[in-house]
Amino acid sequence: MRITFATAPGSESRPNEDFVLASTRAALVLDGAGGPSELGSGCVHGTPWYVENLGTRVMGLLITHPGISLADALSQGISQVTALHTDTCDLQNPGSPSSTVVVLREHEQRLDYLVLSDTVLVLDGPDGIRQLADRRVDEIGPEIRDRMNRFRPGTPEHQAERLKLVTEQRRLRNRLGGHWVAATAPEAAYQALTGSLPIGDVGQAALLSDGAARYVDFELGGWPDLMTVLTKQGPEGLIALVRQAEDADADGTQLPRTKRYDDATALLAVTGQARPIRR
Ligand SMILES: [Zn+2]
Repeated sequence: MRITFATAPGSESRPNEDFVLASTRAALVLDGAGGPSELGSGCVHGTPWYVENLGTRVMGLLITHPGISLADALSQGISQVTALHTDTCDLQNPGSPSSTVVVLREHEQRLDYLVLSDTVLVLDGPDGIRQLADRRVDEIGPEIRDRMNRFRPGTPEHQAERLKLVTEQRRLRNRLGGHWVAATAPEAAYQALTGSLPIGDVGQAALLSDGAARYVDFELGGWPDLMTVLTKQGPEGLIALVRQAEDADADGTQLPRTKRYDDATALLAVTGQARPIRR
C-alpha cells in the first residue's frame, strides 16, 4: 500500500492525543480520550503515553505475527499496555486513558479492517464508497448533549454540561448496553467492527479520527467528496478545511460540538505495489 497521513493537535496548549502509525502493509489511527482534567484519570502517564504504547504494540504484533486476527492483536496490545501501568496507576478508575481504534492490514491478497468506537474507516470499492464507525458513544446522554449545545464551547456553562456528559460516558464504558473502547479491558477488542475484502475490490481507503471526520459532520461534503479532497489535496488539505470551518463558527452556534477544535488525523492508503521511485 502507498500511504500518506497527517495529524494535527486541536490545541496549542495540550498535546495531540491522536496517534498514527503505518508500514507498507498495515496502518492504524488511534484517538485517545483523557477527558477533562477536572475529572481525574488515576493514571500518572497520560493519554499520549497510552495511545503511543498501544499503537506501537498493536503494529508490532501485526508485523511479527502476520496471520494474527486484528481483534487478537488489539486485545493482546491492550493487555500488554495494561500490564505496563498496573503497579503505578489506578486502573479501576473509569477515566483511565482510553482510545478509539481503526486498523487496516494487507494480508494474503486481502484487506482486513477493524473499527472500534468512533474512529472512521472509508472504503472506496466497486460498490462505491462506504463508511464504517461505531458511534454508540454519541447516543449516550442526549438530554445532557442538548443542554450543552445551548452554550458556547469554552463557557463555564458549556464546560459544566460537558463534565456531566463525560461522566455518563465513563459510567457506560466497556459495559454491555454502553459503548466499547480500548482502555484496560482486552475483551473490548471483540466488540469492534471487523471484516475482510479481496484486495482487488478496494482501490483506496481512508482512516480518520473523529476530528477529521468533522468534514462530513459539518456538511462540508459527503464521504465521496472527502475521498476526493484526500486524493487531490492530501491529508493536510482535509484537516485545513475542517479548521477553516471551525474558525468560521468559533462560538459553535452553527456547528454544535464538545470542543471548538479537536485533534485531527487523516490517512489515505492506496492499494497495490509501491513502485520504485525514478528520477
Ligand atoms: Zn498509567
